[in-house]
Amino acid sequence: MNFEEHAAKALLNARGLPVPDGHVVDTPEAAADAARALGGPCVVKAQAPAGKRGKAGGIRLAASPAVAHAAASEILGMTIGGHRIERLLVEEQVPIAAELYAAVLCDPESRGPVVLFSAMGGMEVEEMAAADPDAMRRIEVEVAGGLDAGQAAAALDGLDLDGRTGAVAQFLSGLFDSYRALDAELLEINPLALTGDGRLLCLDCKYTLDDASTGRQAAVAETGAPERMTALEAEAHDNGLRYIALDGSVGVLANGAGLTMTTMDAITHFGGRPANFLEIGGEAYTKAETALTILLKNPNIRSLLVNFCGAFARTDVMADGVVQAWKKLGPDIPVFFTIHGTGEEDAVALVERELGHRPYDLMDDAVLAAVQAAAGRTGIGPGQGAAA
Ligand code: GDP
Ligand code: MN
Repeated sequence: MNFEEHAAKALLNARGLPVPDGHVVDTPEAAADAARALGGPCVVKAQAPAGKRGKAGGIRLAASPAVAHAAASEILGMTIGGHRIERLLVEEQVPIAAELYAAVLCDPESRGPVVLFSAMGGMEVEEMAAADPDAMRRIEVEVAGGLDAGQAAAALDGLDLDGRTGAVAQFLSGLFDSYRALDAELLEINPLALTGDGRLLCLDCKYTLDDASTGRQAAVAETGAPERMTALEAEAHDNGLRYIALDGSVGVLANGAGLTMTTMDAITHFGGRPANFLEIGGEAYTKAETALTILLKNPNIRSLLVNFCGAFARTDVMADGVVQAWKKLGPDIPVFFTIHGTGEEDAVALVERELGHRPYDLMDDAVLAAVQAAAGRTGIGPGQGAAA
């Protein structure tokens, strides 16, 4: 679960990490009032669970309430990273001496948390880290043990922090504590500002809560950004199906999340792009019509690949559901089947009899045919796509 900046900062503030003063508003008038209450220059910031708001024009410095009003009018209603901006954070403007970068995240290599720190933060941190790997310091942390400031200071050796190494180390130790206490998957401060008068302040914060922890972090999860689903994803969700909209043209219907992802990888391997993730399990028999209806509403779908692998679930029962739905809906795209495991012989015979398409023995051949059909070329291999 992701959080908007203001919600993430409230959590940090409650844990004693330094954030600027600010107010959340949703009209230009309220932005001007907030600027007045702050009593000095401010920053007007678009709130969305997305990064790179600055580059998109969603972060504006304002020297007066009138300028804050004008900036708010322009930012409200913008779309940034697919999110319509409906709220703003109006914060005191901080005089920045240096923009630093700090983050804690899960590191798949060390299989534990890692604290990242760079003295060069701001908006181009990925580019900086690629150009100068030594500038990005990594501290692998034993999750149960925590990070003490001494350990953190040792990892900062050689960086020019304007005499503030101790304060930064203390901050990183507190940041790690917050990461752990908030069951974060990611806690990223970019920029962490070093102010002219030597203070450290979190100017931005990205926080992702581990979805497995929304139960025990119920109060925190309350303040998270609601999951935004596309219309088709919402329809699938309401019907108990696990569907994710993607931008390709090869539709995928497979049983089990692992086989579905493998199928998507194979589509990509053969030069195609999956149109969706749709995992259907033993409920293929009862939900195939709903699933197909949703898949076919995607205007970009050009072919459909059905990949079933039966262990406990019987492929003949799953295939029966899909065949019936296919005949009822009569889509005008070709479909390619590949079926293995329990009930395979009956399933293959059923598809051949009812749709006139012999499922492919090899998954690769089915995938290649579906990719080629989506690209407008005719399928090759032992079978032909069945068109209704
Ligand atoms: P992002 O683009 O979504 O990551 O938004 P940030 O909150 O990181 O803001 C982008 C940039 O705006 C920062 O890197 C700063 O350079 C600038 N900025 C944000 N807050 C302040 C502030 O209080 N004072 C000043 N001078 N600049 C700020
Ligand atoms: Mn940022």
